Amino acid sequence: SDSHFPVPISPHHVEYSSHYPHFFPSADSNPKKIEFADVGCGFGGLLISLATLYPDTLMIGMELRDKVTEYVKERILALRVSTPGQYQNVSVVRTNSMKYIPNYFEKSQLSKMFFLFPDPHFKEKNHRRRVISPFLLDEYAYAIRPGGIIYTITDVEELGEWMKSCLEDHPMFESLTEEELEADPVVKLLSCATEEGQKVSRNGGQTFKAVYRRIIPKV
Ligand code: SAM
Repeated sequence: SDSHFPVPISPHHVEYSSHYPHFFPSADSNPKKIEFADVGCGFGGLLISLATLYPDTLMIGMELRDKVTEYVKERILALRVSTPGQYQNVSVVRTNSMKYIPNYFEKSQLSKMFFLFPDPHFKEKNHRRRVISPFLLDEYAYAIRPGGIIYTITDVEELGEWMKSCLEDHPMFESLTEEELEADPVVKLLSCATEEGQKVSRNGGQTFKAVYRRIIPKV
């Protein structure tokens, strides 16, 4: 249950110096903040790819399963040792993202959020357990800065349609154009960088993406 892992009482209480010791040699050093969140990161493949693509951006995986989180921690530590100076910007935390996003991120802190191959929760009564929902999109719209991007992908058509329609119907998100999708290097990683994406592609499965921008409110 949730009592098995600590939860920071506010974004100010996130322990940056233990997640990113290279960037924060002491607890009170520079105020750089996490900008990318990979929600339900699984084994961490996306983060590992992003870490070198955006070496100056702090990023974190949020994962519910304890053993999987420990695996990702070890994976990152091993990479830090084998390639000195790299992977200092990536970390992982065990948490329930459906409950604790506001404990980790302030308003407009994030520039990218990822939801790659989330659990489908097929039955209608379980739709409330889906990580994309109208209610949770309100929270994500709060945490993502105007102009920031939310990336989703699944191999389950029904879930793909659900995520797309939740985003389409939400007043704070707008779809990227085909040209913008084509120009964004991160979009290409969605289907090939994670362990789940690689499994789907090995099996020749179809995928369904929805990539939306947090709107910039007109003044
Ligand atoms: N994104 C990864 C990938 O593409 O390989 C993992 C996909 S896996 C099917 C879904 C992951 O979401 C699992 O590792 C699961 O433990 C995690 N998860 C499910 N609910 C979660 C929650 N409420 N908070 C954090 N992680 C969650």
